[in-house]
Amino acid sequence: MLDAGLPVRAFFTTRAGGLSAGPYESLNLATHVGDDQETVARNRAAVSVMAGAPVSFLHAEHGIRVAEVTYPGEDPEVADVLVTRTPGVALGAIAADCVPILMHDAATGAVAAVHAGREGVRLGAVDAAVAGLLDLRTPAQRRARGGMSASIGPAACGRCYEVPADMRDAVAARHATARSTTRAGTPALDLPRAVETRLGELGFTSVLRQRVCTIEDARLFSHRRDGVTGRHAGVVVCGVSVR
Ligand SMILES: [Zn+2]
Repeated sequence: MLDAGLPVRAFFTTRAGGLSAGPYESLNLATHVGDDQETVARNRAAVSVMAGAPVSFLHAEHGIRVAEVTYPGEDPEVADVLVTRTPGVALGAIAADCVPILMHDAATGAVAAVHAGREGVRLGAVDAAVAGLLDLRTPAQRRARGGMSASIGPAACGRCYEVPADMRDAVAARHATARSTTRAGTPALDLPRAVETRLGELGFTSVLRQRVCTIEDARLFSHRRDGVTGRHAGVVVCGVSVR
């Protein structure tokens, strides 16, 4: 487990500590990748123990839809951004090369878990998450701005994530710092850097970044590296202060 460094309980899981076998070894948290469903349920239960609350894992569609979770353990609607202001609710964003992002708003105590892949970043997943958190503020709190912190989890890095040139250009047209080049000199995307830049532009008080590349680091799942594989997750718990 990697500490996310937020003011509330928040962490990123790794491959370690689960029950899955083969390409899913061992803490696979995704139900849609071909792993045994009962084993995934037990893995998810283990992560809920780590969180101290039943985790609501998002159902990604590579879009920017926002769903609010209103009670602990609620199975959320399909959405790449989950938000909550309910203490005791834990949110989980699964990924394996895409960027998991966890957020906390000190003004309200609300938290967000975000799944931001290439399409999500291009479409504005970070902006959608911030809008979702601002929706939970009162008008006076909205005028005050500031007070938000974020943690960017393990993801494919800009030296590894090779894409066709037109795909790079499409994302870089909106997020200039996404433009990257692989070690071999071919077009690439640096999604974690693009997310970090955008969070800064939106006035986040604090942005932490793991700087762990899923393709290079065997502790993490990587779809790009392994094809058939599992998913790790970023988890954030509303209302459980750690400072
Ligand atoms: Zn890398």
